[in-house]
Amino acid sequence: MPTKEEIIIKPSDLVKKASTYLDASEILQLKETIKFSTNAHKKQKRLSGVDYITHPLAVAFLLTELKMDIQAIQASLLHDTLEDCGIKPNEIESLFGSEVTSLVESVTKITAIELTNMNEITPESETMKKMFLAMAEDVRVVIIKIADRLHNMQTLQFLSKKRQIEISKETMEVFAPLADRLGMWQYKWQLEDLAFSYLEPNIYNQIDSMIAASHPNHLGYIEKIVGVIEEELKSNKIDVEAQGRVKHIYSIYKKMQRYANEGKKISEIYDLFAIRIIVNSIQDCYLSLGVIHQAWRPIPGAFDDYIANSKDSLYQSIHTTVIGPDNKPLEVQIRTGDMHERAEIGVAAHWKYKDQNIDNIDPRFEKRLVWLRSILERQIESTDTDEFIESLKHDLFQDQVFVYTPNSDLKMLPSGSTPVDFAFSVHTDLGFYCKEAKVNGSPVSLKYPLQNGDIVEILRSNKKIGPPREWLNESAGFLGANSSKQKVKQWFRKLEKEHNINKGKEFLSRELSRLKINRRPKGFTNLMGFNNLNDLYAAIGYGDVSNKKIVQKIFENTNEFLSLNNAIRIKLTAIDRVGLLRDITTVISSSGVNMIEVSTDEHNDNKVSIFMTLETNSGKEFANLFYDLDVINDVITLERVSRT
Ligand code: MN
Repeated sequence: MPTKEEIIIKPSDLVKKASTYLDASEILQLKETIKFSTNAHKKQKRLSGVDYITHPLAVAFLLTELKMDIQAIQASLLHDTLEDCGIKPNEIESLFGSEVTSLVESVTKITAIELTNMNEITPESETMKKMFLAMAEDVRVVIIKIADRLHNMQTLQFLSKKRQIEISKETMEVFAPLADRLGMWQYKWQLEDLAFSYLEPNIYNQIDSMIAASHPNHLGYIEKIVGVIEEELKSNKIDVEAQGRVKHIYSIYKKMQRYANEGKKISEIYDLFAIRIIVNSIQDCYLSLGVIHQAWRPIPGAFDDYIANSKDSLYQSIHTTVIGPDNKPLEVQIRTGDMHERAEIGVAAHWKYKDQNIDNIDPRFEKRLVWLRSILERQIESTDTDEFIESLKHDLFQDQVFVYTPNSDLKMLPSGSTPVDFAFSVHTDLGFYCKEAKVNGSPVSLKYPLQNGDIVEILRSNKKIGPPREWLNESAGFLGANSSKQKVKQWFRKLEKEHNINKGKEFLSRELSRLKINRRPKGFTNLMGFNNLNDLYAAIGYGDVSNKKIVQKIFENTNEFLSLNNAIRIKLTAIDRVGLLRDITTVISSSGVNMIEVSTDEHNDNKVSIFMTLETNSGKEFANLFYDLDVINDVITLERVSRT
């Protein structure tokens, strides 16, 4: 559960904690750094009113809990000095060396980005990019940054509501996932719960009270269970340390959502509490499991062995849920001390092991850390950042490619992206009118798959010709990013709409003119159930509204549009052929419309015009008849004429 009172770390606390694993000369460096930073921040206060130095001290303290190396601890103590105190990098370098300096500079760079980006719509992606690049330099930068964020979240109550929301949002979207990727679960959970308490305070409090209600004295309850379990295991000669905790609120919330989707009741979430049993060996893990299952009835199906079947190689534990001492369900996790440390601090555990004999390291843990090691090694060995980014990419930001504009702006695109995708990412218009591309100064095909670090230049077409239809052909390979595919599709949909609007417009005006209706097309919009005229035109053009339907509507509203007393005189011109008149009279006699007058007018060129006066009370009958006459073979024109 998030703590919301400010815990002040004193220099002596930090030194004491660091002394548990750093050597005497490193402690000396640590003290020097504390002195320097305290002096640099001496005029500053935090918003809570305490001395500013409490913040770097708290961040450094968090890092000692991860057993980070001295350079990282020093950098965390100095992380705000460049920005806020006017300290110059060369000052830090002469006192603490280049490694510490570059760590401080990288952490500062990320901070600057965050601040300048606060007004943009999605600062997350930009921060994410910078994080990625920082990680490319040194993963410790990101670990420091995550600890910095954790302390800021722990003291967020002193900021304005607006900033609380902004920072919590970014924490949820950037920092918690990063902590997760780095295996730093202890951080991930704290970040999530803290951010959640600001983003959804009502739900947060609801869950909090739900826990309280299920066990009115839950802390006492947990304490009691821990005692019972320790006693039980010790009587079986297992050396054990048991810890109890309420489950993380955000993880309960996600479980609630999952249950809601599965149609289950929230009251069915029974494992609000978890007990952790930490023992000395894998053998003791299984022995403990046996003891627990003998003492309390296990719930069927609620057992997982992540020691034998490790889900993410870094995480190992046995999970079981039993009906506990008070007849309430209880989740129990069993693991060794080593497994526990890895589960809590993840990648940061690397620094703890780096000076030790490699044979002592669990091979599965090793596997997970391979990519991280390769970063560190390559950093020392070479400057081949491309290859390094490539390997990181797959682990951290699956399938992204990082390229630059000629002005050195960084663009992050899905891997497989082309110069056309790049153009769209710069500006939608540039995408539509992109004609040629250059990569690193040389012309490339528009289908060229962009590589990390490419500098991409787009040449714009002067002619107002949109994208070629070929771009939509998946196998042609012009577009790699889904977002640009969407844009090109929209372009053609829009183009098609314009075409269909014109088609619909022509059709309607032709209908109105041959029916001699002196009304503006706008009047038909509502009648046909459309909000605006273009939509009506488009619908007619697409064929969504049939020709027959239009004519029907016009005739249905005979009085309004045709303003006559049930009689319409029409003129049909057709190629004169045997059976024409018979076809016409057949259509008329089956229509229910009366023909009260008919005359013909033969032309010289083998055409004939037939004039008819028709009468009915039903507009629909008129419409059907009109339409049926229109489609008789060899009919050339059909129109309404005035009485002669
Ligand atoms: Mn800070």
